[in-house]
Amino acid sequence: MTRFIDAHVHPPIRSFLEGPIAPFLDDLRSFLEEPIVPQSPDQIAEFYRSRDAKAVLLGWNTHAKSGQRSLGNTDIAALVEHAPDVFYGFGAVDPSGGAGAVAGIHQAARLGLSGLAFHPASERMAPSDRESRQLWETATEHGLVCLIHTGFTRLGAGVPGGGGVGLEPARPIHVDRVAAAFPGLKLILAHTGPLWLDEAIAVSVHKSNVHLCLSGISPKAMSPELLELIRGALQNRVHFGSDYPFGSPDSWLAEWDSLGLSDEVSRAVLVDNVAQLLAR
Ligand SMILES: [Zn+2]
Repeated sequence: MTRFIDAHVHPPIRSFLEGPIAPFLDDLRSFLEEPIVPQSPDQIAEFYRSRDAKAVLLGWNTHAKSGQRSLGNTDIAALVEHAPDVFYGFGAVDPSGGAGAVAGIHQAARLGLSGLAFHPASERMAPSDRESRQLWETATEHGLVCLIHTGFTRLGAGVPGGGGVGLEPARPIHVDRVAAAFPGLKLILAHTGPLWLDEAIAVSVHKSNVHLCLSGISPKAMSPELLELIRGALQNRVHFGSDYPFGSPDSWLAEWDSLGLSDEVSRAVLVDNVAQLLAR
């Protein structure tokens, strides 16, 4: 039986570490307990398989604005094909990419991916920007789940000018407008919007097409209000993610277990809610 689904994994393959994340990697190291070393697809699959777990692998695409190589739809599809018993895949398009981005969404659907991942801070564009409208329309048409990174990012943190990365596009309230305009689109607020946790909670309580991913908040730091929502109003729309390799599923789960939540709530957060979200 699947013990957990990690719904937020950035596959640490060499092309990701030496590609889109490369400009930030040195600065990120100061936040990490262990250095990130490149892994093969087999190693990542085995990491999860040995824990009776599955993982949602996220693409990354800021190519149109940064010129950086992306971890795109075909890369993610190849990883899923490598270990379909363990991996789900979310592709990525750069929202600034115009017609190319829309074509990328059709491609993600053709490749059988489950969704798309966005990182507004590094894309330097808010999800509510008019330029993105056609993307949400196309994702809705294909039933692709859209995961949006929200809140504080460690990318560019601690360096002058934050490496050019602005935090504002990652406000959860920008996702609220998208959720309102596209009620048929399933959206995930990743990281619970640190800096704007209240906003992330309000948006997900208010819009039933918005799900909350707990990556980015450690269980011991969860407020009584958030825990109450996890046990109540958001019980079917909140789920676990670790942000691996920037976070560790093992330490998160150890803290989670110490909270003493019921088996029913725990099972919903760790497995059932994501499984349902990904079922098409
Ligand atoms: Zn992430």
